[in-house]
Amino acid sequence: PKGGKMDWKKAPCRFCGVGCGVLVGVEEGKAVAVKGDPKSPVNKGLCCVKGYHSVMALYGKDRLTKPLVKKNGKYVETSMDEALDLIASKMKTTIKDYGKDSVSIYGSGQWTIPDGYVASKLFKGCIGTNNVEANARLCMASAVTGFLTSFGADEPMGCYDDIDHADVFILWGNNMAEMHPVLFSRLLDQRLKRGVKIIDFATRTTRTSMAADKSILFLPQTDLAVANAICYEIIKNDWVNKDFVEQHCNFNKGLTNMGYGLEDKYKFKDKPEKIDFEAYKKFLEDYTPEKVEKISGVSAKDIKYMASFYGDPNKKVMSLWCMGMNQHSRGTWINNLVYNIHLLTGKISEPGNSPFSLTGQPSACGTVREVGTLTHKLPHGVVMKKEHREFAAKIWDVPAENIPSKPTYHTVEMFRALDRGDIRFMWIQVTNPMVTMPKLKRYRDAAKKEGRFIVVSDIYPTPTTDIADVILPSAMWIEREGMFGNSERRTQYFEQMVNPPGEAMSDTWQIVEVAKRMGFEKQFYYKKDTHVEEIYNEYRRHHDNKKHNMAPLAVLKKNPGMQWPYVDGKPTKWRFNSEYDPACSNGKKFHFYGKPDGKAVIWQRPYEPAAEEPDKDFPFWLNTGRVVEHWHTGSMTRRIPVLHKAMPKGYVELNPGDAKRMQIKTGDLVKLTTRRGEIIMPASVNERGVPAPMQVFVPFFDEKMLINDITLDSFCPISKEPDYKKCAVQVEKV
Ligand code: SF4
Repeated sequence: PKGGKMDWKKAPCRFCGVGCGVLVGVEEGKAVAVKGDPKSPVNKGLCCVKGYHSVMALYGKDRLTKPLVKKNGKYVETSMDEALDLIASKMKTTIKDYGKDSVSIYGSGQWTIPDGYVASKLFKGCIGTNNVEANARLCMASAVTGFLTSFGADEPMGCYDDIDHADVFILWGNNMAEMHPVLFSRLLDQRLKRGVKIIDFATRTTRTSMAADKSILFLPQTDLAVANAICYEIIKNDWVNKDFVEQHCNFNKGLTNMGYGLEDKYKFKDKPEKIDFEAYKKFLEDYTPEKVEKISGVSAKDIKYMASFYGDPNKKVMSLWCMGMNQHSRGTWINNLVYNIHLLTGKISEPGNSPFSLTGQPSACGTVREVGTLTHKLPHGVVMKKEHREFAAKIWDVPAENIPSKPTYHTVEMFRALDRGDIRFMWIQVTNPMVTMPKLKRYRDAAKKEGRFIVVSDIYPTPTTDIADVILPSAMWIEREGMFGNSERRTQYFEQMVNPPGEAMSDTWQIVEVAKRMGFEKQFYYKKDTHVEEIYNEYRRHHDNKKHNMAPLAVLKKNPGMQWPYVDGKPTKWRFNSEYDPACSNGKKFHFYGKPDGKAVIWQRPYEPAAEEPDKDFPFWLNTGRVVEHWHTGSMTRRIPVLHKAMPKGYVELNPGDAKRMQIKTGDLVKLTTRRGEIIMPASVNERGVPAPMQVFVPFFDEKMLINDITLDSFCPISKEPDYKKCAVQVEKV
């Protein structure tokens, strides 16, 4: 700041799913300062290190400011008009030559609501292909399928206010201190005020474990067995809330394929089947704490200790999780299993009793889940249901037959289709798949194949812009108007505060311009000055019901966000509880109205080994993840000098005992080899986190050390979310 007049304007932070409210200081047309918004109920004035420095991400020296088109292997600057004409004509010729399913869009949980909405409308409604996916498939698809299978309705029933009511917090494999730092500080605050307990249940010792009251380590993948053992203990000790279970739960077994349309391909023949309580109890006999101790490495005593909190009728328990449970070859199952614990004890849908699935990205909920930018989704419903297609088509002003009734490709399959040549055109916005795709080398080679046309919209050069035929410069965050939706169903609006550089344009308007050029002027009637309001108003019509109503734009503009369902001028804090949720209609205290009979499902889900486990050739587990300083692939945060300096490069974290045995010290070069390839990086011993013996951890933010070249692209067969947390690796000192 130069000391001149500063205007402070509200926005949600764009750097994680917590969705903190921030105030951005604008001076002489430049965003120069950030502070936490004291009026925000999310963060109450606090920010983390990424939030405080977020505006600096706008001003990196190498911002993309002009469209670039690849000609004879070189990028040539062009006008925006020319680039948009080229994209529209390339899409039209690709569709003519190869069919509608040869074009695709791959977006993001960092797309604003209008970005995702126009992408879905153009591809699903106008062009007529379900080739719409988003990187949120890689981070929360298992949370979605967990909610749908257990409750028939997506997104948490509770909210962040649960933190102020819970007595015990059990963190299932999530390093909240680094990944959701401001929320974690709310837990610590409650410990100071009320003496609550925090239990960190994880595969690696992190800053979260260090701050927790107790850290319990489990072997990778065995959370499935431990969750079942907790259920076993709850039943054995007669801690079941029988009245709640009788009135509000069914018991099921079976795989459930979610009707993604891929059942034949993946041979999902197993249909869900109802069982009774006795059959479920019998199934759990394989999961006594003593038996599970042998699989999981968690002592029977610690399993009983965790179960005792869930079983204590005088303790309110909040379970929190994120990627550790979602990026899991049985991600849907482990989500179901934690819901089982809360359902058996009736500790759900009321203040402080809350199974809470956190999201990573600022609008994974708002855009990907609520707008529905996944192959099978529509804003309200799924493409497989005729009435949902008809409903969306009416609002989109397209014939219902335009929207295909079958999903096409989930994310990994979409890149495989690009490899095979079934997809010929891909538009990538607000994401960096050439850093984040598992088994990356295969998909990088695929994108470079002859006859593929890739458009990348971004704000900085990345390994993904390296594969582009056309690069479009995007306007970032507060350089345009938009909304995000955070982990607690809160939609937050932000206005345009500063001008984008050069010809940079919002991702929304890029799509609108291409749609118009493709002949869809009628559907894309929006005017430049008012398009965000027009799009949001149109989008709200998809959710116009008590179960999902979104607040009007005027309400979002006035408030630090608003939670949906927004009914009769009020947000709904706890869903499925008739005291708070006006959509409950069964006359009882709880109503799980996402299921036809109003009952939630307790699922019989077994333990199953990981897709690839260590063996004599690859004896270590490889786990990947994030660090507090960087946002995902670091394309923005590495341009913020203070964050880059704090965490300048990637590393491999080793267990101190393993490091000693292998004579490896911090900074020594280490070669990691998996069945997919090898990578060399510096070692880190006893610095940030400490993996358990025979495990290593690598953050994925450093584009110069592409750890995903060697990760595994196997995925949960229900959610199709890859397991980035587990594969087998050889570790050698170089
Ligand atoms: Fe932003 Fe997340 Fe940090 Fe809050 S916790 S300031 S939303 S990065």
